[in-house]
Amino acid sequence: CGIVGYIGHPSTTRDHGALEVLMEGLRRLEYRGYDSAGVAVVADGELYHRKKAGKLANLAAELEAHPVPAAQVGVGHTRWATHGGPTDVNAHPHVADEGRLAMIHNGIIENYAELREELLAKGVSFLSETDTEVAAHLLGDIYRNGAAGDLTRAMQMASQRLEGAFTLLAVHVDHPDRVVASRRNSPLVVGVGEGENFLGSDVSGFIDFTRNAIELEQDQVVTITADAVEITDFAGAPAQGKAFSVDWDA
Ligand code: GLU
Repeated sequence: CGIVGYIGHPSTTRDHGALEVLMEGLRRLEYRGYDSAGVAVVADGELYHRKKAGKLANLAAELEAHPVPAAQVGVGHTRWATHGGPTDVNAHPHVADEGRLAMIHNGIIENYAELREELLAKGVSFLSETDTEVAAHLLGDIYRNGAAGDLTRAMQMASQRLEGAFTLLAVHVDHPDRVVASRRNSPLVVGVGEGENFLGSDVSGFIDFTRNAIELEQDQVVTITADAVEITDFAGAPAQGKAFSVDWDA
């Protein structure tokens, strides 16, 4: 029920690695309620993900037992289970494209059952009972086959096929310089930093790091790199969100 994304440069992440930003954001988003938590980072050409049912402390303990390398890019999630019980396997992130892509999701994909059948017929296998894993494999399939390795394009195309409510964030080993996200009927806010950018289900996800924000409009895709924020509609046409600054004290 909470979402955080982060991308920076080695120089901007010196004082706070991606993992620290993600965990701090998830702590701030705890008020939304959740039953599981997880993170994924891309470092040294590999995707690392850790996820656990229960409180954030369980995820923190998992990260202590099985650390991930220092990273400049990643996503973090707290889950409120709707499809599949609150287990480690059903926790987000969900991984696709042979372990190269990680996705997190808030909301409900209403047409997940038919998409799951379609992907099963193509030989995809599923580990979890979630609607989210279907969206992850749909993105992976489109990334490979329809979008020819363009992650932003793949997110636009996948979003067109998804019904229901979703905020989706994805990272991919082939694109360690970006986080790609999408929203429909579910909130998503960009935090604009200097040499680093953030995503959150609300500004609490990044309030410790920046107060400059852009709220996405309905049915938009955003790609953040360390230095740029690019917004489009689901068809790929350039679009704009609503910029504002956070003036309350966190
Ligand atoms: N429907 C998804 C799940 O059950 C996401 C739930 C959420 O918004 O946290 O895994």
